[in-house]
Amino acid sequence: MSNSEDDLIQRIRRRIPSGVGGELRTGIGDDAAVISPFRGREWVLSTDQFLENVHFRMDVHPPQAIGYKALARATSDLGAMGAKPRLFLLSLALPANRTGPWLDRMLIGMRQAALRFGLRLAGGDTAKSGAVAFNLTVLGDGPSRHAVPRSGARPGDAVFVCGRLGAAQLGLEIVLRNAYRQPRWRRLLRQHYYPDLAIDLGIWIARRRLASAMMDLSDGLSTDLARLCDASGVGARIDSRAIPAVTVPEPWRRRGLDPLALALHGGEDYGLLFTVPKRRASRIPASLGRTRITCIGEIVRGRGVELIDLDGKPKALVAKGWDHFRPAT
Ligand SMILES: [Mg+2]
Repeated sequence: MSNSEDDLIQRIRRRIPSGVGGELRTGIGDDAAVISPFRGREWVLSTDQFLENVHFRMDVHPPQAIGYKALARATSDLGAMGAKPRLFLLSLALPANRTGPWLDRMLIGMRQAALRFGLRLAGGDTAKSGAVAFNLTVLGDGPSRHAVPRSGARPGDAVFVCGRLGAAQLGLEIVLRNAYRQPRWRRLLRQHYYPDLAIDLGIWIARRRLASAMMDLSDGLSTDLARLCDASGVGARIDSRAIPAVTVPEPWRRRGLDPLALALHGGEDYGLLFTVPKRRASRIPASLGRTRITCIGEIVRGRGVELIDLDGKPKALVAKGWDHFRPAT
């Protein structure tokens, strides 16, 4: 395992019964669980926490964005398996002073996400707490054996990403630098506040069985590609010059925000990362709807991710994406 958040998950899964079997086809360790409730169909299940002062801040983030993002983050893991979002459960902990207008505005954002992704609330739980905490469980479905795991990448497969990478991290950096109230930067906050998901692309890929492995980009390309490679027992070589990085306005470049670094290590993009056997790679279009799709490299034998830099020289890519439990260095 490549880092300590993964170690923590390993410790939990070793102690709690969690193996695949019976109706559970894919269990802990992938983007979502896959359940086969009856012949011909497959359910896909995942859960996600979204916590005040860990994932969002009341003094910065608008309540609508918090509600939208809570549900979008969870739903992204269904898209990562190629499932159609169907139902969700909401567990919500709130201080008493958040049960009035703040709650109403938060729910406007969550409703927007539910309508956009086609989700229906199936139940949940609420509790009083010192800080706001969301726990979202999402259920999606698809035809039997449609779900794309992380573990199927093989040497020679092409590596694809969708969208422009680093856009959400650029928004977060602007927030962290206290410039988020300036109207001229408002459009740069969009992917941080209201992340777009690639649900339709995930379904499109899964139904055609084009991908050998797939996951969503939640913690940054350098971290997530290493996870996909670990799960598949392979390495990867990607090319800096092919990576579709966010456009960074000049004033922010001067303040040290580098498009390639944002694209490699920035979290919360919620696009898809997937691999396709070479013979099928030509069937991947340059875009699907408004979602742009880019080949950034290939899967290779061995371990680790190699990055071809802007001068064409290869070097090891260190995973510097988001990890709650990474030891301080
Ligand atoms: Mg995921």
